[in-house]
Amino acid sequence: MVFIQTPPELGNQYTDDRVLRSYLARTLPAEVLADIAGSLEAMGALAGGEIYRMQLADRESEPVLTQWDAWGKRIDRIEVSPLWREAERIAAEQGLVATAYERRHGAFARVHQFALVYLFTPSTDLYSCPLAMSDGAACALTASGNKALIERAVPHLTARDPSGFWTSGQSMTEAIGGSDVGLSETVARQKNGQWRLYGRKWFTSAIASQMALTLARPEGNPPGGKGLALFYLETRNPGGSPNRILVDRLKDKLGTRKVPTAELTLDGTPAELVYGTTDGIRNIAPMLNITRTWNSVSACALMRRGLALARDFACKRIAFGAPLAEKPLHVDTLAGLQAEFEGALHLTFFVVELLGRSEAQQISPEQADLLRLLTPIAKLTTGRQVVAVLSEVIESFGGAGYVEDTGLPLLLRDAQVLPIWEGTTNVLSLDALRVLQPGGRLANLRRETGFILQRVREPDLVKISARIEQTVEQAEAWLGQAMQSGEAQVEAGARRFALTLGRVMELALLARHAQWALDHERDSRTLAAARRFAAAGINLLADMNADDARLLARDEP
Ligand SMILES: Cc1cc2nc3c(=O)[nH]c(=O)nc-3n(C[C@H](O)[C@H](O)[C@H](O)COP(=O)(O)OP(=O)(O)OC[C@H]3O[C@@H](n4cnc5c(N)ncnc54)[C@H](O)[C@@H]3O)c2cc1C
Repeated sequence: MVFIQTPPELGNQYTDDRVLRSYLARTLPAEVLADIAGSLEAMGALAGGEIYRMQLADRESEPVLTQWDAWGKRIDRIEVSPLWREAERIAAEQGLVATAYERRHGAFARVHQFALVYLFTPSTDLYSCPLAMSDGAACALTASGNKALIERAVPHLTARDPSGFWTSGQSMTEAIGGSDVGLSETVARQKNGQWRLYGRKWFTSAIASQMALTLARPEGNPPGGKGLALFYLETRNPGGSPNRILVDRLKDKLGTRKVPTAELTLDGTPAELVYGTTDGIRNIAPMLNITRTWNSVSACALMRRGLALARDFACKRIAFGAPLAEKPLHVDTLAGLQAEFEGALHLTFFVVELLGRSEAQQISPEQADLLRLLTPIAKLTTGRQVVAVLSEVIESFGGAGYVEDTGLPLLLRDAQVLPIWEGTTNVLSLDALRVLQPGGRLANLRRETGFILQRVREPDLVKISARIEQTVEQAEAWLGQAMQSGEAQVEAGARRFALTLGRVMELALLARHAQWALDHERDSRTLAAARRFAAAGINLLADMNADDARLLARDEP
């Protein structure tokens, strides 16, 4: 008899998820939870069953680009994988975008939508990417007030009927600048009232989408971000041919291999102005806030998937006479990862709550400011956490974690994109600082953490609360001193500052939930997560010296 290892398995991804369910029970009114529980259970069953099996079977298929037909005509057709075709149908029918716009549950619509997204994402190989951009496009178009474009595109982006459902791309990055998108070289020319775009876009994901929002510089506009305008384009003409868009090639990527990410030439592509002939970066901001939130939700979702598989495997894998789940050091390793995941989930869904309240116009000015600060902070903090957690998850399977047909390496490779696209960690850290300057005060954050922690009574949580308050004070003091020392000092510390705020908020939200779970569920697991998270550290603002950093970065012989 040869030994054969039992593989890890998944159950219903909603009913098995203690952290999500407990969070929803605290946050949602009972009647809202009762109303949406059926949809979450159905999505949890699909994600742990049918689509998960399909994902494993479909592992090797990738998008295919056919540039020419048999007779030499340029067609640039992209076939996505069978999993993605199925994911599109499910996404439309289950309202993964629509739920946010139907607003059946008012300010809680975003919580419902993102709970569905969180369950759906890990089984569909980043189909969340086109969905995020579709949601973002619907939001940016709506914010623009451009009636014609809203009537044309938003009903498709929010459709539940798969035959009328559209997804959107977001073409910003060019070879010359991704973070520094103000350098964009794409030109917009107007002739006979029709705008046409000319340029090369270096990264455009979801190129199989029906439409895209993009940036281009109307001829004669000044250089820099201000001179760019936001344009709407449709990728195919009514005959189904490419709309003067050439797909030069698909990117050969480390991960997200089911996502067709292309290099494009816009060769006189017809386009429409969304709102004005300048300030495109400002006008696309509502889209980025949405896609960044999807990014944070995806990070939580991938962490949860990795941990669900790792925990199941730990019960099945025997080493040194017992299941790994009984080995104190293995248990300790998984516990640290679980605490990081729980912190990430609470911060992410806090941002989701604020977003929902803002869209339902039930938000105070202070909380609106906090939403502006926490959207990039949650994205960058969870983006770092997901890579660290999934690297450990892979190791927790030993050699099996490194073997492709277990389906596990994909998790880590896909996770690695989350700190890069929609703004890298550094770029978002600088963004967060811009929200706080010129005053550099953390008054809103201090007020909110005070409010979050006001009901905490359990002695360990009281100690944790004091530490949170102290860390917020230290962060504010650091920013004040750095601002006096000059811009270089502020920039050099921006990432640690932003990550400190992210970890502070995660711990505060964990502490609040821990008290609630003790009181209402007699469950001490969130308390354990809060203690563990606190022990891992929240203050990353050690003394820093920008000159030392420059010397180390160069490391010349
Ligand atoms: C799989 C994938 C899909 C993508 N899909 C899309 C898409 O659909 N649409 C789209 O528009 N883009 C897309 N992108 C592009 C992505 O958004 C950019 O790669 C990203 O914004 C970074 O830009 P860049 O590649 O030009 O890097 P750069 O801007 O050159 O950055 C390089 C490094 O420098 C750092 N850096 C830059 N500026 C600063 C600064 N001021 N201070 C400190 N550090 C700094 C960054 O953090 C980064 O680590 C995609 C990327 C990937 C990997």
